[in-house]
Amino acid sequence: MGDIFSNFGDIFGDLFGGFGFGGSRRSADANAPQNGASIRVGVSITFEEAVFGTKKEISFNGNEPCPECGGTGARKGSKVETCSQCKGRGQVIFQRQSLFGMTQSVQVCPECHGTGKIIKDKCPNCRGEGTITRKRTLEVSIPAGIDDGQSVRLPGQGEPGTNGGPRGDLLVEVRVKSHPTFQRDGMDLYANVPLPFTKAALGGDIRINTIDGDVIYTVTPGTQTDTKVRFRGKGVPSVRNSASRGDFYVTFVVQVPTKLTKEQKELLEAYDRTLTDIPNAGDAGKNKKRFK
Ligand SMILES: [Zn+2]
Ligand SMILES: [Zn+2]
Repeated sequence: MGDIFSNFGDIFGDLFGGFGFGGSRRSADANAPQNGASIRVGVSITFEEAVFGTKKEISFNGNEPCPECGGTGARKGSKVETCSQCKGRGQVIFQRQSLFGMTQSVQVCPECHGTGKIIKDKCPNCRGEGTITRKRTLEVSIPAGIDDGQSVRLPGQGEPGTNGGPRGDLLVEVRVKSHPTFQRDGMDLYANVPLPFTKAALGGDIRINTIDGDVIYTVTPGTQTDTKVRFRGKGVPSVRNSASRGDFYVTFVVQVPTKLTKEQKELLEAYDRTLTDIPNAGDAGKNKKRFK
């Protein structure tokens, strides 16, 4: 197994857009230290893992300095020569005669492809590349409160730099699976909770599933459908401060039974007969005109 990295660096998401990914820019000097490129990998986690944080083992392919040649690309014992065409600068100046006289252009040296070095006897292990591809495995700490699309950055775990430049970063992009009942918006959670119509009318205790487990909630008599209740601190922790949590919003959806037993039907009919003082309820009996 590869090296284990247990600390996470910083987290960034779309808030910090415009992050420059990708490789190192070639500077003018072929021998100047170059930063290694970033490596991006994806990891998929559950809704609960995103809320409470988790550790994930991730595997990815990355380049390592070749252990055989120490990253030079030359066979052991052989020398790396300085490119004679560019004298090690990696760039050559082309001169061209034009209507306006001599013009000069700087181009990447075609002989050494900008490295400034010529390897006559290539290292057989890396074929002169100086790096080998290796599968690496790391354990990544994913902080509580991370949201879909955000990334965890592990500094110095990317591709190796060249000419002694620092390694790039590893960027672990987190994909959060959806949840069957909870919806998330930032640090807040939302859910629809079915409420039997009798409980809505009479009030009483019901069990509500929060992300922290079940809680008993006392419904007030006469609760209507679409009534919203807030459970403070039962939301998602802040990714930067786990002591701070969002809220959980429940929307009650009053359930009307679609099937009734004979006994239930009789009870409801008895109840219905008590509603005659309400204009649009009860049996549409005498003294009331039917709508045609
Ligand atoms: Zn090698
Ligand atoms: Zn050259």
